[in-house]
Amino acid sequence: MSVITKLDTPAMNRSQITSINVELFNVPLDEVLNDAKHGDHTHFELILCTITCADGTQGVGYTYTGGKGGRAIYSLLNDELTPFLLGKDASCITHLWEEMQYHLHYIGRGGLVSFAISAVDIALWDIHCKVLKQPLWKVAGGCSDRVNCYAGGIDLNFSTEKLLSNIQGYLDNGFQAVKIKVGKEDYREDVARVAAVRNLIGPDATFMVDANYSLTVNKAIKFAQAIEQYDITWFEEPTIPDDYAGFAHIADKINIPLAMGENLHTVYEFNQAIAQAKLGFLQPDASNIGGITGWLAVATMAYANNLPVCSHGMHELHVSLMASQPNAGYLEVHSFPIDRYTTHPLKLENGKAVAPSTPGVGVEFKSELLTPYLVKHS
Ligand SMILES: [Mg+2]
Repeated sequence: MSVITKLDTPAMNRSQITSINVELFNVPLDEVLNDAKHGDHTHFELILCTITCADGTQGVGYTYTGGKGGRAIYSLLNDELTPFLLGKDASCITHLWEEMQYHLHYIGRGGLVSFAISAVDIALWDIHCKVLKQPLWKVAGGCSDRVNCYAGGIDLNFSTEKLLSNIQGYLDNGFQAVKIKVGKEDYREDVARVAAVRNLIGPDATFMVDANYSLTVNKAIKFAQAIEQYDITWFEEPTIPDDYAGFAHIADKINIPLAMGENLHTVYEFNQAIAQAKLGFLQPDASNIGGITGWLAVATMAYANNLPVCSHGMHELHVSLMASQPNAGYLEVHSFPIDRYTTHPLKLENGKAVAPSTPGVGVEFKSELLTPYLVKHS
């Protein structure tokens, strides 16, 4: 007679993922913001991903868009990644990052998949930091709790008068560095706006320009040569992000360093851009480069190539990542009003942005303020 012995169920791993909740919000902006290639922004989409582990630890990750594509990212998270991740070990962050990449590789290799992976990865890092009871700036590298920053205007549609009053507002709020959008039909209008802003901010403030990949190579060269006299720290996305040879050609012809990164959504794209585009600054965005894991990989690539690492968007998170790194450049303080919806709005001290000291990634949303803008949830 055979005896069947019931095996004991193994004790559940404390860090096993037991639930994932996904939410999509469509948050209105106070006023229409415009840049050269995206046109008008009226809303931003916020996609939150809350991961709960067997021991009850919760991490919140997120990504965002300029108003389009949020539903597709929501679906990737809710329909594809949630069933894939349930039951897996949240503490194996790099392993899960790699697994997610190849789970969706055939329809991914960047793009929307990178946005979805970013939201998950940030939630996993939030859990990791909470388990360690440490803030992200320490866990990610610990170089400092503060970093140089600049106010990134989305202001191409502003009259010169409004542009200047907006910049004055940044100075009044403690910023010592500013960036404006360029890419007017007639580049001489951009030159006049650059001259007016430099005149307002004085010779000591740091000043960048951003064309949102709207110019031809030749027009970018012509424009950059006309503004060299205004001491510009970088010229961001002069032409399409895929034209690395075009970037290199521009870099050879002008005396302003080039910057890009918000439209490079895999570490391999950064690898190629570093090798070919003659960039002076890298600007990875943790919301679309594969979260904190992807952002730190690019920061290390920047370090190995003797380049400063900067950031694009989501300053509430990037402040901690930037501060943590030895080769930190300038944190972009973005124009979308995300600070209104978080419990730790960005703090400036002597022109530097200060990272939150709370355990976790330092970004907690005020759900009662976001709820009116909820579109979908799992
Ligand atoms: Mg930009």
